[in-house]
Amino acid sequence: MAYDPNNIFAKILRGEAPAFTVYETDHALAFMDIMPQVDGHTLVVPKNDAENLHDADPVILGETIKVVQTVAGAVKKAFDAPGIMIAQLNGSAAGQTVFHLHFHIMPRFQGLEFKLHARSPEDPEKLKSFAEKIRQCL
Ligand code: AMP
Repeated sequence: MAYDPNNIFAKILRGEAPAFTVYETDHALAFMDIMPQVDGHTLVVPKNDAENLHDADPVILGETIKVVQTVAGAVKKAFDAPGIMIAQLNGSAAGQTVFHLHFHIMPRFQGLEFKLHARSPEDPEKLKSFAEKIRQCL
């Protein structure tokens, strides 16, 4: 399947759709997931077109993972999370719903289940405050 430049993350990257931005480099952008599975659920996307892991430029992938590491550290600190889960889905059979490569960063706590994938939109004010809280821990 060819990369669709009208996917929602491509629109966010072009500034055509809003996002609660957490962090940014020349190569990648981190922002809050609007239908989080847990409080603090953050996404990191490369700025280059890539549908999934398989077609990503390895150099850009490396730059993106550096951003994942930086943001995961800030999320851990901001939410005082004992565990951080990183998820990355490739293809609809794996559950991918947005076809621009992205990494999920999710704080995890013993015994605290996370919500279903991409189901319930979060209060924008809450997302705004979470983004701010994470930025302060960068
Ligand atoms: P995946 O199923 O791995 O492709 O994940 C896509 C993620 O993007 C889901 O967790 C959605 O909640 C999230 N999502 C969808 N639209 C937006 C959006 N406009 N801004 C931020 N996150 C979004």
